[in-house]
Amino acid sequence: MKNILFLASPGAGKGTQSEILAQKFNLIHISSGSLLRQETASDSELGKEIKTIISKGDLVSDEIIIKMIQNQLDSKPDAAGFIFDGFPRTASQAEALDKMLMEKKCPLKLVIILEITSAEMIERLLKRAEIEGRRDDNEETIRARGIIFNEQTTPLINYYAAHTKTVTINGSREIPVIAAELEEIVSKL
Ligand code: AMP
Repeated sequence: MKNILFLASPGAGKGTQSEILAQKFNLIHISSGSLLRQETASDSELGKEIKTIISKGDLVSDEIIIKMIQNQLDSKPDAAGFIFDGFPRTASQAEALDKMLMEKKCPLKLVIILEITSAEMIERLLKRAEIEGRRDDNEETIRARGIIFNEQTTPLINYYAAHTKTVTINGSREIPVIAAELEEIVSKL
């Protein structure tokens, strides 16, 4: 089973690259942001709560997102592997994911760190706001998300480097160039 994790700031291109790899290697792409946005579309109480959190750029609780990811894993027992995009974002989410994958006896094979500068992050997300109209892609929220990423998610790089194969990729290049580099790395797993 090829379980792969993208660790990158918002706007780094992890969603795009996850999709390309998922198709190429027949893997299931799990995007925590998409799962949460689907829930907000349902208009449930939980959906309303999540909508408020996302529109401020904050993180939803570990408990909520961990449960959603567990459901995804459980619903696809025959998957050839998963690509995690946007999850985990905190230390306790990372520990929960390790535990879930340990139960399946299929730990992460690779962590891909996709690097862009914070100036690029802001520029890309503002552009995406124009195209997709995502309500959390305004300048104030983008800055909040950048700060949360640096404080809560960046420390996971060291967490994984201690026990999982990790590669750092320059995310500032063209999409096909990055995709080709990743394809080569993943094909050797
Ligand atoms: P994304 O599309 O990955 O940038 O996620 C959009 C928003 O969903 C984030 O700014 C958070 O509010 C929320 N979110 C996504 N993934 C997580 C996660 N793993 N933990 C907590 N909140 C998350």
